[in-house]
Amino acid sequence: MNHVPEAEWVAYLADKIPEALKIEYENHLYSCDKCLSAYMEAMEKEEFGPDIEGFDIAGPVMDSISRLKEGPVEGEKQLRKEKSLRTITRHYLIAAGFTILLMAGGVFQSLTEYVDSVESISEKETQSLTDGLIDKTFNWMDTIEKKNKEGFRNE
Ligand SMILES: [Zn+2]
Repeated sequence: MNHVPEAEWVAYLADKIPEALKIEYENHLYSCDKCLSAYMEAMEKEEFGPDIEGFDIAGPVMDSISRLKEGPVEGEKQLRKEKSLRTITRHYLIAAGFTILLMAGGVFQSLTEYVDSVESISEKETQSLTDGLIDKTFNWMDTIEKKNKEGFRNE
């Protein structure tokens, strides 16, 4: 199969391509890094771009109003909702798959190792700081004790 252009991913995300083609694209996605990054880019644009049709508040409100007016939910609208829910689940699964890929690639592994090393360093520093405080306190107590003894002697 040929690479999928980003415009096609936009159409895919907008649910504008046939189901059979979607499956084909998805199968390709799992075996092609290039198309995976194109897909991720398309998804970012879809989510944060100026085109926010999907977040139109009037849609759901109008839906519930018409539901109140007409009684039972029309089958067509229900079907559309189920379809978009399925698309969201699908995107979520793809993102999860991408995370697993990253983990397998050791990206998170090296990150955790880095955090561990930073943490152990700061732990050591805290340890020595505490030790220093204890030492100082003991020295101070010793000094007081000596002074007291000297004082007794002087009397
Ligand atoms: Zn490809």
